[in-house]
Amino acid sequence: MSKTTNQESIVINGGGLTSLLLAMKLSKLGYKVHIVEKSPSIGGMYNSKTYENSIVFDIGMHIYYETCDPEIDDLFYSLLPENEWVIRGDNHKDIAGIFFNNRLQTDSPYVDLRNFKDEEKKRFLADITLRLDKEYKNQYLTAQDYLLDRFGESITNEVFAKILGKLYDHSLDQLDVLGAYLVKMDRVVLYDSETMLDLMKSSKIRSRLAYPDQMTLPPYRTNTQKMIYPKRFGLEHLMAIFKQKLLDLGVEIHTNSIIENIKLDNNLVEKVSIKQQETSFELATDHLFWSTGYFSLAPLMNISLENYKFKHKSMVMVNLMVDKEPNMDLLYYFYCFDPGFSTFRVTHYANYCPGAQSNTHGYPLCVELWANELEPNTDYKALALKELRDFGVINDQHKITFAIEEKYKIGFPLPTVANIETSRKLRELVDSKNIQNLDVIGILSKDNIFFLKDTLIDAFSRISRLKVSA
Ligand SMILES: Cc1cc2nc3c(=O)[nH]c(=O)nc-3n(C[C@H](O)[C@H](O)[C@H](O)COP(=O)(O)OP(=O)(O)OC[C@H]3O[C@@H](n4cnc5c(N)ncnc54)[C@H](O)[C@@H]3O)c2cc1C
Repeated sequence: MSKTTNQESIVINGGGLTSLLLAMKLSKLGYKVHIVEKSPSIGGMYNSKTYENSIVFDIGMHIYYETCDPEIDDLFYSLLPENEWVIRGDNHKDIAGIFFNNRLQTDSPYVDLRNFKDEEKKRFLADITLRLDKEYKNQYLTAQDYLLDRFGESITNEVFAKILGKLYDHSLDQLDVLGAYLVKMDRVVLYDSETMLDLMKSSKIRSRLAYPDQMTLPPYRTNTQKMIYPKRFGLEHLMAIFKQKLLDLGVEIHTNSIIENIKLDNNLVEKVSIKQQETSFELATDHLFWSTGYFSLAPLMNISLENYKFKHKSMVMVNLMVDKEPNMDLLYYFYCFDPGFSTFRVTHYANYCPGAQSNTHGYPLCVELWANELEPNTDYKALALKELRDFGVINDQHKITFAIEEKYKIGFPLPTVANIETSRKLRELVDSKNIQNLDVIGILSKDNIFFLKDTLIDAFSRISRLKVSA
């Protein structure tokens, strides 16, 4: 839809990457766009922090994976000249691993069951085989339903229940299917490469069993999706460029600001009141995009949050520089699936952005630790280092040249049935107001919307709802 006359004003609440790309698109279509961002900078999770001596860390692992919609991806590519991107496809697109069964799996991100007892493997295989011809549902109520349907009781109860319990502290029947979607749980490794090459000729088997070596995986993929990351490490540099491009396009960016009131007129958002530090002002708007979730929106729609709770897992990111290459092979990151560890994920930035390695300080690593409550007396740096040694990522030969812990009070949104149910109920309540010019976008704006690829595709699909200009 193109817009050339009588510039209509659009307000986007929240300045994460979803909002920024949407703002860029809308302003190129001719709309006047305002971004309202609570914090001092834009980018949301796609950002970084600079410490002393120019040491930089991103906020955990955040890479741009193409949406495969050129309308969206081309906007992202346009931020830098082609030679300033690291662009990788095929088997190098996403080199991920897991720590499972006391081993760092650098060869596959899928749980490797090859070291289980023969009798167990026979049961696993029998259960999978029984389900190969089954028709799968479009939607599952819980992670348990999904995994049982896919793998049967043995793998679900003996393997996945323990892993998801470790990650999210809830039993499988209390977890939404999103819990299985956030980490790779759609396949398992049961056979060596040679046998799998033969078995993989069947698409049904291929959809349950994983090839055990991600670097030599034959080209079975059906899309050409690539990962993109700037050659210069630290997403804040990219966000500074993004900000300038948006300003050049006429986008107004209100940082340190929140929307404290929404004025409605006949099922339409008419104005928003914005509080920017000590001052307040109003913006008339033709359309409001809300990217910061139903919890921040509901009170402004006179919906009480009294009976609604949403549990997050608190998060501590320990950012470390190690003087020698960490022992992670080619992995960009790995998840820890074994009980007894606080680590959720470890990211080795230099493996996808070689520019992250510093001649003076070495290699940046981020250990994401999850805690139910942030404990003031826990030494998270010491905990991260101990777990890195247990994983074999560092040893006595490695020296730590820099270490800092960053605590995030509101951390990871737990993929529980209760949380998803709460999101659905709030969504229904907001929808029941039938506001014609309001769209909620971003994480959990709909079921299973979490990764950037999903938030972007969903947000861009809403553009067609905008009023066409006269
Ligand atoms: C811990 C964690 C790990 C993740 N790992 C991955 C991953 O590995 N791969 C992946 O693809 N995705 C991952 N994601 C999801 C990914 O971060 C999001 O899909 C992506 O950032 C897009 O989110 P967004 O643009 O909607 O919002 P965000 O990046 O969350 O940005 C929201 C913005 O809104 C601002 N804001 C919040 N509240 C308000 C308010 N009331 N008013 C104004 N502004 C406000 C925030 O300051 C922030 O700038 C992860 C998310 C989390 C939380």
